[in-house]
Amino acid sequence: MNYAGIGYDLHRLVEGRKLMIGGIEVPFDKGSEGHSDGDVLCHALCDALLGAAGLGDIGTHFPDADPKWKGASSLIFLEHTRKLLSDRKFRIVHLDAIVVCERPKLGPHFQKMREALAKSLGITSLEINLKAKTNEGVDAVGRGEAIAAHAVATLSQH
Ligand code: MG
Repeated sequence: MNYAGIGYDLHRLVEGRKLMIGGIEVPFDKGSEGHSDGDVLCHALCDALLGAAGLGDIGTHFPDADPKWKGASSLIFLEHTRKLLSDRKFRIVHLDAIVVCERPKLGPHFQKMREALAKSLGITSLEINLKAKTNEGVDAVGRGEAIAAHAVATLSQH
């Protein structure tokens, strides 16, 4: 039996922060504001995985009031989620995600992101598909004030 889960996240883009996406640093003049490293793609994927497994959401497992997660690499969230899934005999079949921002161009960084994500999740990069969109200049994402991500996870249980 397969299970699908959906994830979404958005972070403000501000000066003086690194832009972490999919576990890697993307060179840019702004970065994601957040309690952790603000990695919007990792957070959306985490919520998609937890959703597919019926395990709630990222805020339940990694509360942003907890000083333990301050500045944390979001790959840690995926590694912890991987353990929650394997404890319950879930296997990741496939992940698909869209990152939405006006700038920078993300396509050239996708292979590195897929490899970093795959390593943390114990899968191969072939099981991870990434897509980039702009918001056509519309709303906060379109004005470059924020970055968003959508993700879908497919799990099997055995
Ligand atoms: Mg987030």
